[in-house]
Amino acid sequence: MSTSRIAERVRRIKPSPSTSAADRANELRRQGKSIVNLVVGEPDFDTPAHIRKAAAQAMDKGATRYTLMAGTLELRQAIVAKLQRENGLTYAPNEIIATSGAKSAIYSAFSITLEPGDEVIIPAPYWVSYPDMVLASDGKPVTVACPEENGFKLTAAQLEAAITPRTRWLLINSPSNPTGASYTLDEYRALAKVLARHPQVLVMTDDIYEHIRFDGQLTPHLLQAAPELRDRTLAINGVSKTYAMTGWRIGYVAGPRDLIQALDTLLSQSTGNCCSISQAAAAAALNGEQTFVSESVAIYKQRRDATLAQINAIPGLSCRTPDGAFYLYINCSGLIGKTTPEGKRLNEDGDVVMYLLEYVGVAVVAGTAYGLSPYFRLSIATSLDVLNEGCTRIARAVAALH
Ligand code: PLP
Repeated sequence: MSTSRIAERVRRIKPSPSTSAADRANELRRQGKSIVNLVVGEPDFDTPAHIRKAAAQAMDKGATRYTLMAGTLELRQAIVAKLQRENGLTYAPNEIIATSGAKSAIYSAFSITLEPGDEVIIPAPYWVSYPDMVLASDGKPVTVACPEENGFKLTAAQLEAAITPRTRWLLINSPSNPTGASYTLDEYRALAKVLARHPQVLVMTDDIYEHIRFDGQLTPHLLQAAPELRDRTLAINGVSKTYAMTGWRIGYVAGPRDLIQALDTLLSQSTGNCCSISQAAAAAALNGEQTFVSESVAIYKQRRDATLAQINAIPGLSCRTPDGAFYLYINCSGLIGKTTPEGKRLNEDGDVVMYLLEYVGVAVVAGTAYGLSPYFRLSIATSLDVLNEGCTRIARAVAALH
């Protein structure tokens, strides 16, 4: 028996870097420092009134008990209708499971499929939690660097080179956290051609940011480009980002029966069903009028454009225009090697982030957390005033370097 009380699979993982950065910013704020927090990865809007009302009505009607493990039929039917209406994907209610957020869906999907040492291909930059979720499930994260010149996207050649006999999953997140990059149908077709040669590889699509995109189009889905992958794809989504419902904790998975059944079994013996009241709210979100979505996206777009222009005007920083999500992934290679007014050399993006926090009180997250450096992630899920102040301070900090 190990001398540690904490299991090895948990000792392998680390706390989320974005949570740690937010904690540090809050700590400095408590100490009285003026902090511009550009870390947060959640909408700054309230959940729309009609969704909150549906939750209140559900409580009044007694929807306060256990539900079916997979979620109420009402919610799963709302998800089925959404997938058909918005994505042109046909699923039956028994091919859907509701989970306590997309996060737990992704983790659980790894838990039900990974044997020790099984590999998961994760294009980098990636959402911070993916590699740790794989490690916590005894799998091996195989990160593939997708440089800015390739739009931060995985190419077919890179995919082919990364696949081994141990590859169990390819994970695709489009639009991506942290880059906002979004795959086109043609890019999906090229990846699908490679996957056709490797039938053991399953595909997980994390579609959580699908609605937050800036060209007015619906986000293409891998299964639209390659319907033949349906039997080995789990499409993961949720209501957190689209409907400003991060606290309600509703995610969902659509996929083949055997995988959905295995998720049902695992979750029935661990978390149990997700919150009954939140399920009613999520059904109302999916079935209800969608003006909140287009209105909030218009606001994100305004913020993206304003912030992008200011960042790209700062010598030493540059940022590719994100297709979607609410982040800018800012290239800071032009600052590496410079020296701060206190005489400290900036050797990596972590140093840049620390300098911005300590010198001008701007909190962002270092690219190392997302697997591609030197960059930092700035969240635009905050008001234009805060963003403008953040950019002014960043410009001041950069100007003070030599
Ligand atoms: N997937 C990505 C890429 C995310 O950025 C996040 C949240 O930050 C999630 C999933 C988690 O979503 P949920 O709130 O549904 O657990």
